[in-house]
Amino acid sequence: MRLDKFIAACTNFSRSQAKKIISQGDVSVDGVIKKDPSIKITNQDEVFLQGGRIQLTGARYIMLHKPAETVCTSINDDSRSVMNLLGVDKPEDLHIAGRLDIDTTGLVLITDDGVWSHKVTSPKKKCSKRYRVGLADVVQEADVVQFKQGVQLKDEAQLTRPAELEILSSNEVLLTIHEGKYHQVKRMFASLSNRVISLHREQVGFIQLDSGLAAGEWRYLTELEISSVT
Ligand code: URA
Repeated sequence: MRLDKFIAACTNFSRSQAKKIISQGDVSVDGVIKKDPSIKITNQDEVFLQGGRIQLTGARYIMLHKPAETVCTSINDDSRSVMNLLGVDKPEDLHIAGRLDIDTTGLVLITDDGVWSHKVTSPKKKCSKRYRVGLADVVQEADVVQFKQGVQLKDEAQLTRPAELEILSSNEVLLTIHEGKYHQVKRMFASLSNRVISLHREQVGFIQLDSGLAAGEWRYLTELEISSVT
């Protein structure tokens, strides 16, 4: 990649600003000042801009433990956006792969790779999502069968896809769904005349929220986690 393009890709400078900076002698490559914007750079080269090393970042894949009262929006849309918790460069390049409601906590995946996030969210891909759900009323054994068979949500043409319900106690369950309709979990329990009082996403596909990650904390996904989404 040309040096001016490399600088524009690594920073907020435009190509023409990058050319100007290079001609001023503010850029060194492998310890040597370079004034030619057309020289070719690889990510192995050590490029310094005004004394600081700059590098191309690959696509980013993040797991965040969403706290309650934060919203899954772009950084500029709402001061309560979960994106404010990241403190990374160029947060505006990132998007959320599967939003949670304001009162829902747990695993949120964030990336700048649109192909990858499509695999997480597209109903066709049937990527599973597991939720720990607290309920206002006692859960019934019959609900397990109902969810397996699919339930009718208000204003939806089709039944929900088969979902797995594991009863943990009278008012707490684990629910795994393979789609992500608007307010899906709350609406599923409403269809059985129950009410969700707490909702926490524990897992998406094979990616599990780290138990060591406190609400508001995040980390980059491992290669294995990234490639588990197919
Ligand atoms: N289902 C809901 O109802 N809310 C969420 O935040 C996620 C799934």
